[in-house]
Amino acid sequence: MKILVINAGSSSIKYQLLDMSTGKDLASGIVERIGEEMGSITYKTDSKIVNEQPFPTHREGMVEVINMLTDADKGVVKDKAEIAAIGHRIVHGGELFFEPVEVNAEVLQGIRDCIPLAPLHNPGHVIGIETAMELFPGVRQAAVFDTSFHQTMEPKVYMYGIPYEYYKEYGIRKYGMHGTSHKYVARETAKLLGKPLEECNIITVHLGNGASISAVKKGKCYDTSMGLTPLGGIIMGTRCGDIDPAIVGFIAERKNQSAKEVVATLTNESGLKGICGSNDLRDIHARIAEGDERAALALDMACHRVRQFIGAYAFELGSVDAIVFTAGIGENDPEYRARSLSGLENFGITINKDKNLNWDRTPSFISDDDGAVKVAIIATNEELEIANDTVKVLGL
Ligand code: AMP
Repeated sequence: MKILVINAGSSSIKYQLLDMSTGKDLASGIVERIGEEMGSITYKTDSKIVNEQPFPTHREGMVEVINMLTDADKGVVKDKAEIAAIGHRIVHGGELFFEPVEVNAEVLQGIRDCIPLAPLHNPGHVIGIETAMELFPGVRQAAVFDTSFHQTMEPKVYMYGIPYEYYKEYGIRKYGMHGTSHKYVARETAKLLGKPLEECNIITVHLGNGASISAVKKGKCYDTSMGLTPLGGIIMGTRCGDIDPAIVGFIAERKNQSAKEVVATLTNESGLKGICGSNDLRDIHARIAEGDERAALALDMACHRVRQFIGAYAFELGSVDAIVFTAGIGENDPEYRARSLSGLENFGITINKDKNLNWDRTPSFISDDDGAVKVAIIATNEELEIANDTVKVLGL
């Protein structure tokens, strides 16, 4: 059975076709710059093709995805009818969606209703679903929400200390993001531990360009570092993470900017980039090697925050079976991992130098064998998780 996973943004469509008998992706890629004069489509199988062409709307983008997938030469299916179902990644499900659901008119409206909570993401998701409905008539579709894994948080965890009416009127509370990744790596970590997930306390550390940490208690999300939006929590590539909220007004006054403008700076020009001008850890390491002090400060700050959250979550959980690193930085940056957990032997947390440096991409522990808390690296696979959820919710 073949499942197409779609992650539609305001001007892009990421896609991946998975073969569920093996869990492997047959083809993947992205349509970018939809609506601009010139767009592009990337199509990856064993080889990679990048074609430049205009995509006036999502519809033309999706048509080209279908053309590529069914191409006589480079295609991986003969006919689009081979696609059994479509799973959509949806960033924000607010308090409406606790789990993956089959798409129908009511669900589509629910995703629309959550637009104020994710104005940059949910509108693109709605267009993606509508386009897929039109181009794949009769094919069942599922919506899988980044926020739903975090819906098990208790009110004392997700409420902010602000007037209660703001929660009632505007839905202002902590929602958390990257839920699909946190859920996937938590489950894979439980497998490594050889215990049912429901018996495990795990701290999941998703470190990509966007980054968040979750405390998973007996298999359920207990707390997570992102908040109402993906701006909160740890320091990210270009996002500031948690800061004193008064800073927004302080900057707005001095720079004569609106709150929206300040938040744009905190989203796009802050984090690692704000401190040292680079948001990619590969550049930051290269600059540190050349003696760049700002780059060194940025890395120090980011690792310090990760450590703070891990410490807080260890106390919230009471006991920790494992800490698991995942995503671009979590999977590829041994120094970031080592620094985030250095000197914690008294808490039973160790990192084995060799295992940390020589991780071979198979899910495994990098802690010392006698470490009380296991430390793991697991490559995340959000698309596979979405495809699995799609199969489950549609009963395929
Ligand atoms: P993601 O959002 O999960 O794709 O992660 C992207 C980020 O991972 C990049 O911005 C880099 O900071 C980081 N990254 C990717 N490859 C490496 C690497 N080999 N070493 C260190 N960091 C890396």
